[in-house]
Amino acid sequence: MKAHPKIRTAPGHLICPGCMELLAREDIEGFGRCPYCDHRLQPSDDLEDFLLTPVVEQWIQHARRETQQGEAGGG
Ligand SMILES: [Zn+2]
Repeated sequence: MKAHPKIRTAPGHLICPGCMELLAREDIEGFGRCPYCDHRLQPSDDLEDFLLTPVVEQWIQHARRETQQGEAGGG
């Protein structure tokens, strides 16, 4: 059974299911289309995850840093 073309991501990039180009978040944010092949990206959880990832990663890193500093006991 063949699944729908699934949106795949690479670190910091989204892989266009149409042309396999790496797209930056800025490339698709607000357009929803691949600038290379004009493939329309289907709104999906994966796409939303990708668009939100930088925000999520920022606060994860922030939280990790605070934890590490707490463990190191430095000032
Ligand atoms: Zn494309």
